[in-house]
Amino acid sequence: MAWQGIEGHDTVAALFAAAESRGRIAGSYLFIGPPGVGKGAFARALAASLVCLAPRPGLVACGICGSCLQARAGSHPDIDVVAKPEDRATIPLEAFIGDAEHRMREGLCWRILLKPAVGGRKVAIVLDADHLTDEAANCLLKTLEEPPPGAVMILVGTGLERQLPTIRSRCQVVRFGPLAPETVRRLIAEELARRGDETAAATVAAAAAASGGSLDRARLLLDPEVGAFRGRLLELLSRRPLRGVELARELNAIVEAAGKEAPPRRARLAAFLDAAVEFYRAALRAGAGGERAPDPALDRAVAAWSADADEATVGLDATLDALDAIDRNAHLPTLVDAWTAILEAPRLAHSS
Ligand SMILES: [Zn+2]
Repeated sequence: MAWQGIEGHDTVAALFAAAESRGRIAGSYLFIGPPGVGKGAFARALAASLVCLAPRPGLVACGICGSCLQARAGSHPDIDVVAKPEDRATIPLEAFIGDAEHRMREGLCWRILLKPAVGGRKVAIVLDADHLTDEAANCLLKTLEEPPPGAVMILVGTGLERQLPTIRSRCQVVRFGPLAPETVRRLIAEELARRGDETAAATVAAAAAASGGSLDRARLLLDPEVGAFRGRLLELLSRRPLRGVELARELNAIVEAAGKEAPPRRARLAAFLDAAVEFYRAALRAGAGGERAPDPALDRAVAAWSADADEATVGLDATLDALDAIDRNAHLPTLVDAWTAILEAPRLAHSS
C-alpha cells in the first residue's frame, strides 16, 4: 500500500509516522534524492497530514476535514510552498522576505512567524533548495536557527553537497531513493491512460527501464525522438575513437528541437547527460566485474566499451560538471562543445 498515494517511499512515511506518534516531528527537514522520484509530492502530502484536524494512524490525512480540503485545493493558509520559477536560475529573494517595499512583511520567512490559522502547525516547503542564492540561504538560516513553535520547514534538494553546510547542519536529512523501474512503468502507464494517450506499452516499458527511477526522465524518454537519440548517444559514447564534433553536432540539434524556450531545452540536455552518467557508471561497474545494465541500449554500449577505467572516470566527472553547468544556466551549445572536447581527449583532461 502506498502511503497517501505516494509510491515508493513507504519507509520514509513510516519514519514520519513514528516521529509523530512520539511527538518528535522536527522543526526542519532536508529531503535529498534524485529528481523526479516524488520528493515534492511527498512533502505536500506530509504537510497536509501534519495540518489535518483528524489524522488517521500512520500519519495519514483524513481527507475530509476543512483543513484537508484546503490543502487539496492548494489554498491552505498554514502551508506555504516556494519554488524556483522555470525561467530563473535561483529562487528570488522576495519569495523569502518580500520585495524591496515589503521587506519582512511578506515572503515565506515572514509568513512562518504568523500564528497557525487552522490547527496548531505551520508548514513551509522550499522546493528546488539546490537553487538558493547566498542571500536567500542566509534569510532561511535565521528561520532555521530559531524556528517558531509548531513550525515545520521542509527543504527539497537533489544532493547533500549542493546545500550550504550551515543549512545542512540545521536540518534533519531524509533520503529518497530512485523508484523501481516497474513502479515508474505502472505510474506512467496510468498517467497516459488518464489522458487517453495510446502510447504503446513497449515504449512505456523502454522509457521506464531507461529512466533511472525518475518519473520526469521517463516522461521525456516517451518522446520517440528522445528515446531513439538516447540509444544513439550511448553508441557514440562507447565508440573508439570518439568523434567529439559529430557527437556535439547531433546532440545540439536534438536539444534545439525541444523548442524555442530554454527550460525544455535544458531538461532535454540534462536527460541525455543523465544517460551518459549512467553509461560511465555502468562501464566502471562492468570493469570491476559488477552486474549488467538494466536496459538493452545501455547494456550494448557497455559491452562495446573498450577504453579503461581512467577514461570512464574522466567522462563521468566531465558529465557531472556539465549537469551542474546546466543548473547554472550555462549557454547550452558552448557547454556541449566543451563536454564533447573533453570526451574526445580524456588524457588531456586527466593530466591537467
Ligand atoms: Zn483532515
